[in-house]
Amino acid sequence: MDQQKLVVIGGDAVGMSAASRTKRRRPDMEIEVFEMGEYVSYGACGMPYYISGQVRELEDLVVLTPRDFEEKRGIRVQMGHRVEEIRPEQRKVLVKEIATGRVREADYDKLLIATGAEPVVPPGLDVSLPGVFTLRGLPDAGRIKDYIGRRKIDAGVIVGAGYIGLEMAEGLSRAGLKLTLLVRSKVMSSLEEEVAQIVVKELEREGVKLEVGASVAETAAGEGGRIEIRLTGGRVLHAPLVLVGTGVRPRSELAGRAGLTLGVKGAIKVDRRQRTSRPEIFAAGDCAEAYHRLLGRNAYLPLALTANRQGRVVGDNIAGIEREFPGILGTAVFKVFDLTVARTGLGLAEAREAGLDVVKVVVDSASRAGYYPGGEPIKTVVVAERGTKKAWGVQMAGRDGVAHRINTWAAAISAGLSLEEIKDLDLAYTPPYSPVWDPVLQAADVASKHSAQG
Ligand SMILES: Cc1cc2nc3c(=O)[nH]c(=O)nc-3n(C[C@H](O)[C@H](O)[C@H](O)COP(=O)(O)OP(=O)(O)OC[C@H]3O[C@@H](n4cnc5c(N)ncnc54)[C@H](O)[C@@H]3O)c2cc1C
Repeated sequence: MDQQKLVVIGGDAVGMSAASRTKRRRPDMEIEVFEMGEYVSYGACGMPYYISGQVRELEDLVVLTPRDFEEKRGIRVQMGHRVEEIRPEQRKVLVKEIATGRVREADYDKLLIATGAEPVVPPGLDVSLPGVFTLRGLPDAGRIKDYIGRRKIDAGVIVGAGYIGLEMAEGLSRAGLKLTLLVRSKVMSSLEEEVAQIVVKELEREGVKLEVGASVAETAAGEGGRIEIRLTGGRVLHAPLVLVGTGVRPRSELAGRAGLTLGVKGAIKVDRRQRTSRPEIFAAGDCAEAYHRLLGRNAYLPLALTANRQGRVVGDNIAGIEREFPGILGTAVFKVFDLTVARTGLGLAEAREAGLDVVKVVVDSASRAGYYPGGEPIKTVVVAERGTKKAWGVQMAGRDGVAHRINTWAAAISAGLSLEEIKDLDLAYTPPYSPVWDPVLQAADVASKHSAQG
């Protein structure tokens, strides 16, 4: 039998985990990865902490180098190579070496599209202006940090209050910038109001000025190296740095041009084995849909663990081991200054849209025993189904002990436990870590009572 070849487009979380898994399972398979950037296998999630100064070197965010993959794993990695076209009928891709402009063809038996996502830039925001940045790859983080250092930047405007905008509010603030955050309608639109309000308070406490209801109409180069930001209402702000954090969209254009079906929010449509509308072409990570366990259908929620998990599923399937992606719950956590915000499952509106008869139950508790120092309030919002007493979603915010508790909720929801069962869980207790009745147990108990009526 001829040696089979896998070509991977994109060398980060999905691309490299799929390539590694395939090679482990099928050492005989030839694997070639094309990455248009300067890095493979990097921790994009760490960039706000590089900009803040908590992570010292950009290279610290690189997990493995192309050489590691070549020498230790037998995976060929072509850096600075952009795939320009997929020709499914011929099982070929057209690849351009960016430095020389040379274009060549590469054949494949199996193809993985792992092109990730790209920032959405609203009209009016000119990212070609010096001082206006998006943040996606490590070079972006390098440029931002360098710009701040070289020009001694002390103020900035962040456009958008999604999790990247919020993490960067902390990152840039720690780097010494006085910040204004432009919020079109609401801070983190996927958060329930009770949790979003806590985020707003934290930002204000840290001196971030919020402009709610503000959209950018136009940006232009202003005097003294500052950017002029004209808002839709006519008001004009001036700042030496603008960070655009208005969300991402799947980088699926290449797939679309090749005739592959696109699905939710323009992400590449995939089945549970991550196969696209052509079975020899796989797609996963931020460029693709992900199966949502609670909705029972695909959704688009681009996150790092999803990418890594899907990468392994792709690797197994390419190696001939049939495996389905078990799915996501939409579990996510982020930190903004001293606050941790986390969620799993569906929000109230999402659950209602899915046709569920749900109530929202808000429970306040403390992270530690009352007498033990360092305890902080925790707010838990449970979206519970009337009658069945099933939890469909949970959101939490607090300064202590939130991240591990959302994982308890995620595990419980994943296992299909009812609120009655969750309130009876045998969780660990000692005063420095929780009250006797952990906030998870307290919230499950209250939510179970409030969702009793059918
Ligand atoms: C600032 C920031 C913070 C984040 N924090 C978190 C967090 O805390 N938790 C979390 O879960 N997620 C977080 N994420 C999201 C997480 O980084 C992504 O979900 C993850 O990187 C997705 O991996 P991927 O491999 O699908 O895509 P990507 O990481 O986007 O990689 C895609 C790669 O494909 C390459 N590529 C694209 N097109 C081509 C082409 N035509 N030819 C060749 N190469 C190509 C790109 O250069 C890129 O390297 C964060 C993201 C950012 C930007």
